[in-house]
Amino acid sequence: MIEPVVPAASATAPSGATQPCGACALSVVVPVFNEEQALPLMHQRLLAALRALPAPFGERFEIVYVDDGSRDGSAALIAALQRGCRWVSRLHFSRNFGKEVALTAGLAHARGQVVIVMDADLQHPPESIAEMLHAYEAGADVVNMRRRSRADETWLKRRAAGGFYRLINRLSDVPIPADVGDFRLLSRRAVDTLNQMPERNRFMKGLFAWIGFRQVTLEYDCAERVAGETKWHFRQLWRFAIEGITAFSVAPLRLASKLGMISAVLAFAAGAYFIARTLVFGDPVQGFPTLIVAMLMLGGLQLMAIGLLGEYLGRLSVESKARPLFIIDTYEPAHAVQVPGR
Ligand code: UDP
Ligand code: MG
Repeated sequence: MIEPVVPAASATAPSGATQPCGACALSVVVPVFNEEQALPLMHQRLLAALRALPAPFGERFEIVYVDDGSRDGSAALIAALQRGCRWVSRLHFSRNFGKEVALTAGLAHARGQVVIVMDADLQHPPESIAEMLHAYEAGADVVNMRRRSRADETWLKRRAAGGFYRLINRLSDVPIPADVGDFRLLSRRAVDTLNQMPERNRFMKGLFAWIGFRQVTLEYDCAERVAGETKWHFRQLWRFAIEGITAFSVAPLRLASKLGMISAVLAFAAGAYFIARTLVFGDPVQGFPTLIVAMLMLGGLQLMAIGLLGEYLGRLSVESKARPLFIIDTYEPAHAVQVPGR
C-alpha cells in the first residue's frame, strides 16, 4: 500500500478545495459535533453497509468525518477510528462553525465521484445508500431523501416545520422540498457546482435545490437518534428559518413597502373621514384613542420594516468581510483511496 502524504493543515475556503480523485468512487460526509456516544455505533453500521456495496463503491470509498469543533471525546475517537480503518478521512475545525459549514467543508474535501451526506446519529439509515446509488446510476445528479413520517416529533415541531416549508416555498424562487433533511446523494458535477458557491450564509437545503440538475426524491424511515441528544432547539431553528428565508428571497423587503402603502391608504381614508366628521359635527376635543392606535400601529410597522432591512444588511456585511468560511485544524485523508496529485 502506498503511504499517502498528509497535506499541511490549512485554512481552506471552498475554492481551495481538494480536487476530485478518479480513484475514489464514493465519499460519505458526516458532520460530527459532540457525538462520542453515537459515533462507534454509527461507524460500525456505516462501514458494514458500505463494504456490502457492489464494486467500485464497496472498495474505493472514504468516510469523511467533519469534526465541527466537538468539545467531548469525538475528536480523539475519530482519530482512533482512522487508525483502525483505512477508509476514514478526518477533518477537524478549529472551533464549532455549525452544521451547514461542516457540510460545506466536507463537500469541499470529498474526493469521490459520488458524495453522500448524512448525520452522525444514525437517524439516516446507512442501508439506504444502496438504493440511493441505484437512483444515481439511473441518471440522477441529486438524490434527496424525504422522511416518510415526522410522527416521532412533538406536535409543535411538526407544525413549525410544516409552516416553515409552506412559507419558504411561497417566497423562494426555487421550490425547496419539504421534509427533506440533509440526507442526500450528489454527483461529482453537483458537488463541484456547490463548491463554487461563494456565499457565507449557507442554507444548504436551499443551495441543494438551487443548483438544479436531475433531482429525484426517495423516501426513508427516519430512525430515533441512537445516542446523545439533538443540538437543535427552537432558538436555533428560528435563526435557521430566518437565514433560509432571507438567503432565498427578497419578498420580505417587498412586504415592508406593501404594508407601508396599505397603511398610507388607510391613513388617508381615516383622514378624510375625520375631516368630514369635523365639518358636519364640529370639533369637540376627541380622538385620543384613534391617535394612539394610529401611532402605535405605524410605529410597529416602521420598526418591523427596519428590522427586516437590518436582517438583509447584516448578512450583506457578513458577506462583504469575505472571511474564510471555516478554519481547519487538521485534515488527514483516508489511506484506502489515492491522494490527488500523487
Ligand atoms: N452537527 C454539527 N454541528 C453543529 C450541530 C450539529 O456538525 O453545530 C451535526 C450533528 O453531530 C449531527 C447532525 O449535525 O451529525 C445533525 O444534528 P442533530 O442530530 O443534533 O439534529 P436533528 O437530527 O435533531 O435535526
Ligand atoms: Mg439527529
